[in-house]
Amino acid sequence: METVITRFPPSPTGSLHIGGARTALFNWLFARHHGGKFVLRIEDTDVARSTEESTRGIFDGMEWLGLEWDEGPYYQTQRLDIYKEYLQKLLDMGHAYYCDCSPDELDARRKEAMAEGRKPKYDGRCRDRGLGPGPNRVIRFRCPDSGTTVLNDLIKGPIFFDNAELDDLVLQRSDGIPTYNFVVVIDDVTMNITHVIRGDDHVNNTPRQILIYQALGAPLPQFGHVPMILGQDKAKLSKRHGATSVMAYKAMGFLPEALVNGLVRLGWAHGDQEIFSREELIQYFSLENIGKSPSVFNLEKLLWLNAHYIKESEPHTLVPLLKPFLEKRGYPAKPDGYVGEAVRTLQTRVHTLEEMADGMKFFLVDDVEYDPAAAKKFLTPTMQEAFDRLIPVFESMEVFNEENLEKAFHQIVVTEMGLKLGKVAQPVRVALTGGTVSPGLFEIIGVLGKETVLKRLKRALEHMKSQ
Ligand code: GLU
Repeated sequence: METVITRFPPSPTGSLHIGGARTALFNWLFARHHGGKFVLRIEDTDVARSTEESTRGIFDGMEWLGLEWDEGPYYQTQRLDIYKEYLQKLLDMGHAYYCDCSPDELDARRKEAMAEGRKPKYDGRCRDRGLGPGPNRVIRFRCPDSGTTVLNDLIKGPIFFDNAELDDLVLQRSDGIPTYNFVVVIDDVTMNITHVIRGDDHVNNTPRQILIYQALGAPLPQFGHVPMILGQDKAKLSKRHGATSVMAYKAMGFLPEALVNGLVRLGWAHGDQEIFSREELIQYFSLENIGKSPSVFNLEKLLWLNAHYIKESEPHTLVPLLKPFLEKRGYPAKPDGYVGEAVRTLQTRVHTLEEMADGMKFFLVDDVEYDPAAAKKFLTPTMQEAFDRLIPVFESMEVFNEENLEKAFHQIVVTEMGLKLGKVAQPVRVALTGGTVSPGLFEIIGVLGKETVLKRLKRALEHMKSQ
């Protein structure tokens, strides 16, 4: 088999969104699976809508997802000479011609055709007029009047298009800028693309592109059109379904592994496996296992995947990822080792890094803030005795670890005071964290360390006394 070369050609008119990222991922995986190449091309001929910021956003999104490209980025605006050369070729071969029909004329004819019940397509008026270049002239492709164009789609199977239904497509607009359907072919031909894997919103463009390949005598790549992504309500995924930009998921505290896993399952399956390492994805990926029906984006599932990857991570690897979230909250900075230990207590309990950062507050701030309801219920004067007894024992403890703490706590609360463990555990939790929900009590005591624990117990005791 020849070397597989795939491509991802986003238009830099917005950030990298879920749909685009899935297309990039499928192309990347297909290339990696076949030991081929993955090309990045920026389709920036729509100068008015393209921005450098979007281009940077696309790079950031791809880098974050780990979709490294082997060639490019190419920019279409830097390739205009190449397009000119190919346009001239098509003109010389009689496959393209200049047309000076004005937008108003075209509009009037379109309306007339519709009124007469005909399909409103360009009527070929300028085909044989032998016009040359000039102001307000476009270049059109001379589409065959008859015959059938077949798209042998790798995902959808063969699709047949009646050539008579296709318009004489504009290849170059009157402002001299070539159009998408033309440049995409020239780029794919000159970059030796072997497989075009893209969203099925492009199916109807494909016969037009195939005809251009044929006019140029260029070999066709293989095409695979991936069904679209829907929201939970079965409408096409859009902003109104929530965040659609890849970087928004980073900002919400998703790990790239989770997003990659969630994206790949939007259309592709390998039995009923849900969680894949990157190596497994590369090994298993094939176009045969892409379904024919649209897939539904499911945030719950993405959260579940993210919780899985957070839980499976080595705590210290999460620390640098977590830092921006902690900084955003203005928590005082603490040594990485300490933050890592705090991560360890929380990583089985959260779905996102945001949630983790929220849950970590009491580990980082100097003084916890009591949740008023929790303080009212648990930091009551009746708890004074227990705290009075716990404080000196903790104070004199030489090895302040989970095991010794648990033993001492049990000894005082259960054996000496004859109380149930929970009766005192919850007030201690409020004293240390400010609230009633946290990781295991002795785990957090172990991480907070002697000094902080004693300081907080003493402060809670003062609070009880002031009630
Ligand atoms: N720039 C086009 C898009 O973003 C590329 C389509 C293609 O893959 O040919 O939809």
